Amino acid sequence: MAVARRNREPPVPAGAFEYAPAPEATDHVRLAGRYDLFIGGEFVAPHSRRRFVTVNPATEETIAEVAEADRTDVDRAVTAAAAAFRRWSALSPSSRARYVFRISRLIQERARELAVVETIDGGKPIKESRDVDVPLAAAHFFHYAGWADKLEWAFPNRRPRPLGVAGQVIPWNFPLLMLAWKIAPALATGNTVVLKPAETTPLTAMLFGDICRQAELPAGVVNVVTGPGTTGGHLVGHPGVSKVAFTGSTEVGKQIQRRLAGTGKRLTLELGGKAANIVFDDAPLDQAVEGIVNGIYFNQGHVCCAGSRLLVQESIMEPLLEKLKRRLGTLRVGDPLDKNTDVGAINSAQQLEKIAGLVESGVAEGAEMYQPECRLPERGYWFKPTVFTNVAQSHRIAREEIFGPVLAVLTFRTPDEAVEKANNTPYGLSAGVWTEKGSRILWMAQRMRAGVVWANTYNRFDPAAPFGGYKESGFGREGGLHGLLPYVELR
Ligand code: NDP
Repeated sequence: MAVARRNREPPVPAGAFEYAPAPEATDHVRLAGRYDLFIGGEFVAPHSRRRFVTVNPATEETIAEVAEADRTDVDRAVTAAAAAFRRWSALSPSSRARYVFRISRLIQERARELAVVETIDGGKPIKESRDVDVPLAAAHFFHYAGWADKLEWAFPNRRPRPLGVAGQVIPWNFPLLMLAWKIAPALATGNTVVLKPAETTPLTAMLFGDICRQAELPAGVVNVVTGPGTTGGHLVGHPGVSKVAFTGSTEVGKQIQRRLAGTGKRLTLELGGKAANIVFDDAPLDQAVEGIVNGIYFNQGHVCCAGSRLLVQESIMEPLLEKLKRRLGTLRVGDPLDKNTDVGAINSAQQLEKIAGLVESGVAEGAEMYQPECRLPERGYWFKPTVFTNVAQSHRIAREEIFGPVLAVLTFRTPDEAVEKANNTPYGLSAGVWTEKGSRILWMAQRMRAGVVWANTYNRFDPAAPFGGYKESGFGREGGLHGLLPYVELR
């Protein structure tokens, strides 16, 4: 089937160079018109007999029909994972490592296909899927393949044991990467998995099912059940699941935590954020501007650790803002499959509505809005890169996670004030500090309640570095040695 309709006229921001279209080839991608559930190593029709469609947010065209798993389907998947657990957990660690390694090699081999499908299904620019999502997903499997036979060194003098079936629910902003963050440590530690991808971005998880078959992973070690939030609810509530890992909204995370209280199931939650990206007056401004842009416009701002609150030292507010506005005028918004696109499509109509509503509230509450001139494609879901100044800490745009390309700019005078404002949020996932002084970076990092603090950079990820939050951003860490801990019992 044709996988994408090209937007004939990529929008060009006023004053920017005219770029010729640079479309990524899609003829190597073979998408089916319909996808089943991946259970016990097979693609099987859903018991529910129901299906939903997944749509290309850049064109609003239907890409494929996907199976909607009901309670019986989830039960089949958990039963398959439980049956596979006996053999998988008994396998020698070096054999498990070989399977995980094979998966990472296959992700690399199929990288172009995965990148295109991720972009078509989710709306993110191809240069991000190609250069960030897919390589990082492969790197996660490589990293955890390395740990599989070294668990006794990871936890000296303890005997790590797998937990059983992990029920994993992931969101739509980094579908393949979140899958990798969840599945790689679970498999390396000897657990089996039932994964529920987000409703708007199920396709790379379907391709991953095929990768598991290519890797000859024993049947049932990985299972994928697609469907809406209710499918996720069946999974987290299933008595055969020993461990739940969830990434998504704080609201749903809290619901899950309440539901699991007293069940003895292990839980990790990676939830929302409202990160402060803090620029001191001694920071190199041009680099800081690049970091600010990367912090909030990367992946259309659909990033839990996005630097959505910019805290600028008052004395440099004017020159920094001028540079930032000039830079925004050069961002290319449009066809996600064009290799020059910087800001792609908003993931869904629902998310676009949420962003627009919060932006309206910013204007109504008295903040000043700036958007560069740029033409948006007629079809699809789009939002211009947006900056708000004159923002008060009480404004909704300074408090709530917008999860879109919208930056709220606030000022501060002293480092103490910066720390106080940065921490003035129920979230605590990430932060950024821009200054030339190493001592100030360490001083700030010690005082900020954020799981990750980037210094003179932003949105940098590495499989060896743990990631996770404080407060309403959740608990538990993913990545690195720390990411093994949620999947083992230490005896
Ligand atoms: P959700 O938290 O609803 O979705 C995350 C995942 O959980 C999806 O797979 C979803 O399924 C599933 N889910 C929904 N309800 C339940 C439930 N009761 N039990 C188990 N699983 C469930 O996020 P939304 O997609 O609704 O996004 C809303 C807002 O959440 C965004 O605007 C953003 O602010 C925030 N968000 C934060 C993310 C982060 O990484 N921290 C990621 C995504 C969103 P389905 O997709 O089918 O609804």
